[in-house]
Amino acid sequence: MSIQSINPATNEVIKTFEEMTETAVEQAISKSVETFTTWKKTTFSTRSELLHKVAGLLREKKKDLAKLISLEMGKLVSQAEGEIKLSAEIFDYYANHGEGFLKDKILDPVHGQALVRCSPLGVLLGVQPWNFPFYQVARFAAPNIMVGNTLLIKHASIVPQCAIEIEKIFLEAGAPSGLYTNLLISGKRASALVSDKRIKGVSLTGSEAAGASVAAEAGKHLKKSVLELGGSDAFIVLEDADIDKAVEWAVVGRINNNGECCIASKRFIAVEEIAEDFFEKLKVKLAELVVGDPAEPNTQLGPLSSEDAAVHIADQVKRAVEGGAKISLGGKRVDHAGAYMQATVLTNMLPDNPVYYEEFFGPVAVFFKVKNEQEAIDLANDSPFGLGGSVFTQDIERGKRVADQIDTGMVFINHPTWTQADLPFGGTKGSGYGRELSELGIDEFVNKKLIRVS
Ligand code: NDP
Repeated sequence: MSIQSINPATNEVIKTFEEMTETAVEQAISKSVETFTTWKKTTFSTRSELLHKVAGLLREKKKDLAKLISLEMGKLVSQAEGEIKLSAEIFDYYANHGEGFLKDKILDPVHGQALVRCSPLGVLLGVQPWNFPFYQVARFAAPNIMVGNTLLIKHASIVPQCAIEIEKIFLEAGAPSGLYTNLLISGKRASALVSDKRIKGVSLTGSEAAGASVAAEAGKHLKKSVLELGGSDAFIVLEDADIDKAVEWAVVGRINNNGECCIASKRFIAVEEIAEDFFEKLKVKLAELVVGDPAEPNTQLGPLSSEDAAVHIADQVKRAVEGGAKISLGGKRVDHAGAYMQATVLTNMLPDNPVYYEEFFGPVAVFFKVKNEQEAIDLANDSPFGLGGSVFTQDIERGKRVADQIDTGMVFINHPTWTQADLPFGGTKGSGYGRELSELGIDEFVNKKLIRVS
């Protein structure tokens, strides 16, 4: 089987790669096991130095890497540069804080003396998505390299050049062979790898289907897994919100990364006093977006990551309308070559609509008007997903009270759900389990060993 790198702005094939053979994968696993035996004994300063070097190389190559991201998955080049900057920050963050996070925890037991010591698990498999090809890898790789684990990365098939580039950066930074290995294989083959005795844990970011497949294998073989899956974040606007600010953030929350974020604001829920005002202003702003080539500095909305993604979201809109929803803006593919979709607003989306519970992974906003705060919370929670969410209000204490009642892993007040190195990231319900980033993110693939002295 071959893996193709396709430019979604034109749908032209740029490069084709052959998948790794079974023998090559076998050699990669063996090498990763061998490297673990030495990497686990390295000092924190050796690990930290490597991560700082990776961060430095990312910064040095930022412009070229950003172009590559954009070429393979359609992100605006300006946003791709932001992704590289954030990825470098994550490597630096764990380089600076990893040792402190992992230090012995002295306990104060009723009898004797005891401590908890962190030790690595071994070889981990990281299954990564295409929507942030560098950032997603950074948040898995940086903490786990600091822990002393070694990594096999199965990156998304539509970003093979980014995947290869990341591996090269690790080698250039001085990583020993086998510490970070890119596996150029299909998703199906990745699931099968989880059963390999030498692989001690798996982390996946992607769809629910892929997550369920990997988690089922991990469960069957009693291995730790972390899943970061889809989301359908609510963006609640209360009557005391600053509406103009809410509209500005609503556009960013929905359109960032051409709408292809798990933490994108997807369901816009406004209370009736201000609903019309918010809705009209949102529509105007979305209609004004400049759609086009992601490499052009003026472009605000680029293509989706692939033709398949564009076909999928256009079909979701069609099914939504057949199910009773109304198109208030857009609703169609853009009429030129490439994986483009118009910025779209849907209204009249009711629970009996077949797509009511689906995630819109693209520039499609669903708008709801509700009577009051309680209805907004109930609607926000009426989702199979539980990733993030936002509340817009000028009363911060009220915002916190609403946040308490939203059944997700993250809630932001007066901002769309966002990410940075020192904030934990992850969800509940169908959005998966476990946490990435911050101190919590380094804890997932660690043996917290009790040592008791009598
Ligand atoms: P996938 O879940 O298929 O892809 C994510 C990663 O999982 C890729 O590396 C993929 O490999 C791999 N994969 C796919 N199937 C399996 C499997 N059975 N076992 C192990 N690994 C697997 O996402 P898609 O690209 O198909 O996107 C579909 C939807 O998933 C999106 O519309 C969105 O809803 C959600 N998604 C969510 C993301 C997030 O950030 N949480 C990111 C990407 C997608 P390969 O590419 O070779 O198939």
